[in-house]
Amino acid sequence: MAMLVNCGKCGTQLSMEQEYVGVPFQCPSCNAIFTVPRPGSTGPIADGTPMASAPSVPGGGRAIASFFLGVSVLLARCIPIVGFPMAIVGLVLGIKGLKGPRSGLATAGIVLNGIGLLAVIGNIVIAVYLGATGQHLLLDR
Ligand SMILES: [Zn+2]
Repeated sequence: MAMLVNCGKCGTQLSMEQEYVGVPFQCPSCNAIFTVPRPGSTGPIADGTPMASAPSVPGGGRAIASFFLGVSVLLARCIPIVGFPMAIVGLVLGIKGLKGPRSGLATAGIVLNGIGLLAVIGNIVIAVYLGATGQHLLLDR
């Protein structure tokens, strides 16, 4: 018989067959893998309370921040001093945001920041190369 459990990550209510109790189960909403404890073991059983005692923090903010940082990095990639830390922060936020509700946006943020990071590194390499060979446009010789 089916019973209702709440995803410990995103709080989505799921209908689960009894035989899946104790078996790792993937939430179709946020892809989090969690296990409903067997009756008698420690932890709340499917009584409507999320398994995780931690409050469900809306993770969408990190995904959104990552996405917009990625866009900004692509715009600011000509300025490595700005673009490099932004891309790193955006990547970290995107990876953390993957576990939250807006994982699609987080993925986009990771891709954008990854491209931005490569562009920034490429610019630094070109600048160093040109500087080392005395061809840097900004180098006053
Ligand atoms: Zn979930």
